[in-house]
Amino acid sequence: MTILAIDLGTTNSACAVWRDNDVVFIPNKLGEFLTPSVVGIDDKGEILVGQGAKERLITHPNMTVAVFKRLMGTSHKVAIHKTSFTAVELSSLVIKSLKEDAEAFLNSTIDEAVISVPAYFNDNQRYATKKAGELAGLRVGRLINEPTAAAMAYGLHEKKEGIFVIVDLGGGTLDVTVLEFFEGVMQVHASAGDNYLGGEDFVEAMVDAALKAHGLKRADMTPEETHQLSMKMETAKRRISGPEQLVSYTVAGTSYSSKIDTEWFNRTATPLLIRIQKPVESAVRDAGLSLTEIDEVVLVGGATRLSVVRSAVGRIFKKLPACTIDPDFAIVKGGAVQAGLVQKSAALDDLVLTDVCPFTLGVDAVDEVNGQFVEVFSPIIERNTTVPVSRVSRYYTVQDNQTEIVTRVFQGEHRKPSKNVYLGSLRSSVPRNKAHQEAIDVRFSYDMNGILDVDVTVVSTGRTYNKVIKNSPASLSDDEFNKSLERLQKLKFHPRESERNRALMARGERLFETALGEERSAIAALISGFEAVLNRQNAMEISKAQEEFEQALEQFDLEEWH
Ligand code: AMP
Repeated sequence: MTILAIDLGTTNSACAVWRDNDVVFIPNKLGEFLTPSVVGIDDKGEILVGQGAKERLITHPNMTVAVFKRLMGTSHKVAIHKTSFTAVELSSLVIKSLKEDAEAFLNSTIDEAVISVPAYFNDNQRYATKKAGELAGLRVGRLINEPTAAAMAYGLHEKKEGIFVIVDLGGGTLDVTVLEFFEGVMQVHASAGDNYLGGEDFVEAMVDAALKAHGLKRADMTPEETHQLSMKMETAKRRISGPEQLVSYTVAGTSYSSKIDTEWFNRTATPLLIRIQKPVESAVRDAGLSLTEIDEVVLVGGATRLSVVRSAVGRIFKKLPACTIDPDFAIVKGGAVQAGLVQKSAALDDLVLTDVCPFTLGVDAVDEVNGQFVEVFSPIIERNTTVPVSRVSRYYTVQDNQTEIVTRVFQGEHRKPSKNVYLGSLRSSVPRNKAHQEAIDVRFSYDMNGILDVDVTVVSTGRTYNKVIKNSPASLSDDEFNKSLERLQKLKFHPRESERNRALMARGERLFETALGEERSAIAALISGFEAVLNRQNAMEISKAQEEFEQALEQFDLEEWH
């Protein structure tokens, strides 16, 4: 049995397996280890996933979608051309693509996965992730918190003892987790985060700052112009520690340029860097620790390559953060270690893992204040409690002759139930009696997968009611799940063997659209030449042409900056 570890990232996804006592990263059909979390439909109505779709974000913005991880757990739909998709469906297409890559690479079928999720994901989002895996034809035996996975990647290889903090700044989310390694046992003490802070926000800030300096606004730009500027700023961000760069772009058809250097970037990034501090402090505080008690700080997530991020984190803790494992692969590596654990590999016998419940779970209760009834949120499992956990609380009737108690389950930190996330409800019958004479015991059991089991026992009759929370607003019913499955099965997929050609052509087209004059003609000639080779359908010739075409395009991508 091989379990596929999947890091389903906001920007990129990756997968790996545990084989022969080690982690094996899986290359995709383009030979790369990162697959952009982008889905599109091509001109023939076929689904494209990964680099081929990403290249078309600029040229075909209405046919391509990205960053849908942020919508997980909501019922929001995204349109690609004439078809609309939920984030679960889009994620399932990415997972399906990874599954196919792994099956092709390992030459065996895979039907089980461990998928990583941000520690801050609520139950809806966790449930949605599980469903995305199932829609892709995988049994999702376990979800693993991303920082926990990253810690496992580090823990196994360094065997450190002590308390440390994982700061994971990816494309769209920040996760901060406080962990303790002790005698081979890894325990998550606390986690906090910001679901709306990531590397992409630095790009957005760069775009805004550049436009502002020219007295321009986003509203002045066409969607294509915005995409192009964002792509250029993304490249500029990655080279920000190098020499000053000149970024040229068009706004409403007029050309502009901005000079970008490290100092400009640091200034632009400051408001975002400040936002890192709050979740760090709250996670450390929730763990009952102070910043000085942290032995080591570990950075993961692509955006931690930015030196400003490294120094901002360093300043908070007053110590240099560790970043020895490639931030793009730390999580999937840890996921594969976890998969190995599940596969009961002997090499991992001594590693035990605990996890925490990232949000407070409770029910709405009625409190009497000055003779008036007010609804309050009554926590049963406090956030950052180590899981699996089972806790019970007793609640009484509030009216004479009350025959029913409705237990409404919420997740969140607000005093008012209505301000928290509603997860579901459970009705129980109680005998008629005077107010406060009848009671129910509400037991919450929360497991490693973030699934909540609610048991209600009526104290006087002993009658029990149970509910596994499933009908949260954004989760799929079995019927909806089957409908999704049916819809996805009808989609036509781009043939795997031509995926690389497709991605190269899309890249050529993108460069053609952004280039001008002679460069443009040269790119057009390259595209036509490559197309001609494809039409001749000679495998050897195609393989050679792919290399040459790719190298030539690489040059044009680089030249844009000179
Ligand atoms: P992740 O979600 O962990 O894959 O992180 C993706 C984010 O990392 C994106 O916002 C990228 O812009 C950012 N990123 C990747 N490489 C670099 C780099 N060399 N310098 C700065 N940011 C990077």
